[in-house]
Amino acid sequence: AIQRFQARNPKSFEHHEAAIGSMPGGNTRTLLHTAPFPIAMVRGEGTKLYDLDGHEYFDFVGELTAGLYGHSNPKIKEAMTSVLSDIGLSLGATNIYEKKYADLLCSRFDLDSVRFANSGTEANIHALAAAREFTGKRKVVVFRGGYHGSVLAFGLGIAPNNVDREDWILSQYNDPDALEEVFTTHNDIAAVLVEGMQGSAGGIPGSKEFLRAIREQTRKAGTVFILDEVMTSRLHPGGLAATLDEKPDLKTLGKYLGGGMPFGAFGGRRDIMAVYDPRKQGSLSHSGTFQNNTLMLNAGYTGLAEVFTPDVTIQLNKKGEKFRTDLLEIFEGTEFTVTGVGSLMCIHCTKMGLTSTQIRAKDEYAPYEDLDLKKLFWLEMMEAGFWIHQRGSIALNLAMDAEAMEAFVRAVKAFCSR
Ligand code: PMP
Repeated sequence: AIQRFQARNPKSFEHHEAAIGSMPGGNTRTLLHTAPFPIAMVRGEGTKLYDLDGHEYFDFVGELTAGLYGHSNPKIKEAMTSVLSDIGLSLGATNIYEKKYADLLCSRFDLDSVRFANSGTEANIHALAAAREFTGKRKVVVFRGGYHGSVLAFGLGIAPNNVDREDWILSQYNDPDALEEVFTTHNDIAAVLVEGMQGSAGGIPGSKEFLRAIREQTRKAGTVFILDEVMTSRLHPGGLAATLDEKPDLKTLGKYLGGGMPFGAFGGRRDIMAVYDPRKQGSLSHSGTFQNNTLMLNAGYTGLAEVFTPDVTIQLNKKGEKFRTDLLEIFEGTEFTVTGVGSLMCIHCTKMGLTSTQIRAKDEYAPYEDLDLKKLFWLEMMEAGFWIHQRGSIALNLAMDAEAMEAFVRAVKAFCSR
């Protein structure tokens, strides 16, 4: 399969070799590197991607959840064009577009107040700073497998590029007892930062019991509960938080909410967010140049207000549930399974064929992964015209029709019945 891959993609290979000259490993986004070399795309339209060697793919990666609208959504395109022609890009001043989008985010995601950033990473960094300032404490509890951004990655340990290593406490995802132990041992915890469904770790839903335990422990300890909704805000009209019994103190947002432009936002309790109130002496600074740029604000606002309405949100996630159920049926009794919530999922492949309910934490399933078989699956699906991430992550987009999903299911069936 690797040989066929090489023979099929000579231009991508050439492009990669040349790119090594100016970027380490020819790469500027670690997650997109693949061996033996990555495929270079030249264009996207609707739900299709087109590569340098003239192949086309159904896009099931969906830009790791940020590509919710599909490529070139006409309404968002129009919003962007009107900014370019009528408004101007970056005004170097407070503008009238930020309030409009802030109002919409607050009402949709149940926030008292919100601030914008340029990425999900930044949103999390600023939410953590707010929690530290508000509580006067330093430490932050995160979970093995958690991903909160480039410099906030906790694969199975602390990210090697993390600057303040001593401040992190790593606990076990989906394990309320381990969390209780952490709170018994430490008394200086400013925040718990958690994904309601771990995305990078393989689409692992957090159990209600676990998320409730976080709420209880943080309330008792005077710790800020930050729910990272960068990926999961698309899973319900009010974000994943709206499906939980209890409310986090802060939420962070990102990805599709920029309508395709770089985006981040963080918000929640008014008293905590007030640490950024510039009218107060000694307030924290949050001053990124592009965080109120009109292109992002208008594209994001238009997408959420006019395209990803609550009805559409519910429909897309129903489609995802059905798609995942179809895949689960095919995977039964094989090495493969699929986990996830709604329109976001991850295909797993383990030597003993763990089932979706057995995949509860990354460090538990990682030792059993059959990476060779998973790689073969990825190569063959790509050859059949389906763009999926080698990690197995799938994010459905609004341009995805039933035909594409049925074709995907047939291709998976063909792979599994060989
Ligand atoms: N949090 C989560 C849960 C994410 O999945 C990501 C991105 N994959 C981030 C934060 C970081 O967002 P960004 O890439 O925009 O910095």
